[in-house]
Amino acid sequence: MNPDIGQLRECFHQELLLCKDSKDIEQLKVRYLGKKGFLQNLMIKLREVSSELRPVLGKEVNDFKCECEDLIQQHLKDHHHIELSSQILSEKIDISLPGRKQRQGKAHPLTQMMNEVIDVLKNMGFSVQYGPDIDTDWYNYEGLNFPPDHPAREMQDTFYIDPHHLLRSHTSNTQLRVMEKTTPPIRIIAPGTVYRNENISARSHVFFHQIEGLYVDKNVSFADLFATMQELWNKLLHQEIKTRFRPSYFPFVEPGLEVDIECTQCSGKGCRLCKNSGWLEVCGAGMVHPEVLRNGGIDPEVYSGYAWGMGIERLAMLKFGITDIRLFTENDLRFLSQF
Ligand SMILES: [Zn+2]
Repeated sequence: MNPDIGQLRECFHQELLLCKDSKDIEQLKVRYLGKKGFLQNLMIKLREVSSELRPVLGKEVNDFKCECEDLIQQHLKDHHHIELSSQILSEKIDISLPGRKQRQGKAHPLTQMMNEVIDVLKNMGFSVQYGPDIDTDWYNYEGLNFPPDHPAREMQDTFYIDPHHLLRSHTSNTQLRVMEKTTPPIRIIAPGTVYRNENISARSHVFFHQIEGLYVDKNVSFADLFATMQELWNKLLHQEIKTRFRPSYFPFVEPGLEVDIECTQCSGKGCRLCKNSGWLEVCGAGMVHPEVLRNGGIDPEVYSGYAWGMGIERLAMLKFGITDIRLFTENDLRFLSQF
């Protein structure tokens, strides 16, 4: 045997034993079997050997080359196997661990509240109509019997865009729009966002949500309004609830009313929530003013109607015991995830 080959084989075996992983073996492979490797070097040296010796030495080099290839392949296979096993071991799942909690998305509490009110009213025969957030003074005020400079306009501090356009201060701007395009009977609700130029505090915000009801038909009376209000509050609070009606003034209704319900916290005995009166103010209502019907193209001699409106924030605050209206818009998950 050529002494070069004998020495090289010994080195190869030692180096192979020292390989720790498949990366080491790949490097060994390059060193011995690569284009500039030891085996290739031996092949080049063969050319200088005499023609009698060349076949013998050539066979030795070739045998060594085959041995290297076989051993390298075998070791690579073993190492891949070990590495895969340890990878699987390190990635194994501990099924005894508690599961990771997934936060489930939910509708905002105001959306939930609004949807609940809409559902109740839909079941009572009302259909949903939407009015624009930006509207003209006519639909928000003048057409609803608020003449220019009428003191009642100051009840609602309004964001004007220009002298004729504004951000609606109530959902009542939907009333005339519906009357204009519908022949009675009209039985609609109008949910939406409204805007007031007020200081933000625990009790008031620059925008909030209302839902408005309008019923116009022949022979609509106070009795219909009372019955609808009673039914609405029973269903919203899931109990027989006492209601009371007090005279009030809104330019677009005549007569106007405030609707109170018996305090949900103290059942009428008196507490902080109801300021010891035993009653909660929840709704503005009244019979549609003849002038408003006329502005909507409806003959007040033939038809009559009632309208009412209420705040969704106020309702949600009562129902969930929330004392600060600002919480609804702060996007604090600690608050929102409770609903
Ligand atoms: Zn009370």
